[in-house]
Amino acid sequence: MPSAKARLRQPPLIRTGSSAVSLFSGSSGNSIHVEGEEAAFLVDVGVSCRRLEKALATIGSQPGALDGILITHEHSDHVAGLDVFCRRHGVPVYINRRSWAAVSRRLPDPEAIDVRFLEPDETFTIGDLTVRSFRTPHDAADPVGWRIESPRQTVAVLTDLGHFDDRLFAAVAGADILYIEANYDPEMLRIGPYPWPLKERIRSSHGHLSNEASADAIARLIRAGSRTFVLSHLSETNNVPELAELTVSRRLQDQGLVQNRDYQLLVAPRYHSGRPLGPAFSGQN
Ligand SMILES: [Zn+2]
Ligand SMILES: [Zn+2]
Repeated sequence: MPSAKARLRQPPLIRTGSSAVSLFSGSSGNSIHVEGEEAAFLVDVGVSCRRLEKALATIGSQPGALDGILITHEHSDHVAGLDVFCRRHGVPVYINRRSWAAVSRRLPDPEAIDVRFLEPDETFTIGDLTVRSFRTPHDAADPVGWRIESPRQTVAVLTDLGHFDDRLFAAVAGADILYIEANYDPEMLRIGPYPWPLKERIRSSHGHLSNEASADAIARLIRAGSRTFVLSHLSETNNVPELAELTVSRRLQDQGLVQNRDYQLLVAPRYHSGRPLGPAFSGQN
């Protein structure tokens, strides 16, 4: 729960309703804004405080309107802005203990940050948003994805994972909007410039999700009722947005799933905010 101080600090805000917007996506930095009618969160703060402030302004929001930052894991493309942003704006950070241990040892003054520990599979509610994290297979201390539910829609964030399995399926099934990783094209990774050990790390079961693996996960989730997918965390070196979208849509087509009939597919832009998604958008087209 936010402290009384945090509640007082917030100016009265007229929210536009449930929506989710990717502000930044990829190995250069990640942040997704999710809001309900009574609460708002950022999932990750992987760019500088200044860039985050500007990005929030472009979507008509402000740091003081945030109820918390939800952290997936300690890699810098997810926490680069955490120190300055959270100290400057007093926004609480929701994170599990092992991830915080990994993040905090790199911070000059971790005591100055308002940390609220939340272990994987625990749930908390602020206003109309109920939030839960779930473990992901990735080479970090205790990486998680997030599921954020409001009475109007459920948003799930599932990036930085080496593979998709039944447990993850259960964690995100039924979400209306899914930000799901499509990190690399296997052929681009194979012939690309990365050193061999890094290539092996990326395609390992605790690395990142390929376009094809992302498509297979999406196919299962469409059959479970999800409709809107945003391909996220694309590699700048080993992927291209058009290729990711084409690979996923073709693979789904092969399974009889037709874009804009059975599902909606978008790609999260790397350096700027994507399209705001909400109940009014879900299932359209
Ligand atoms: Zn990572
Ligand atoms: Zn990452």
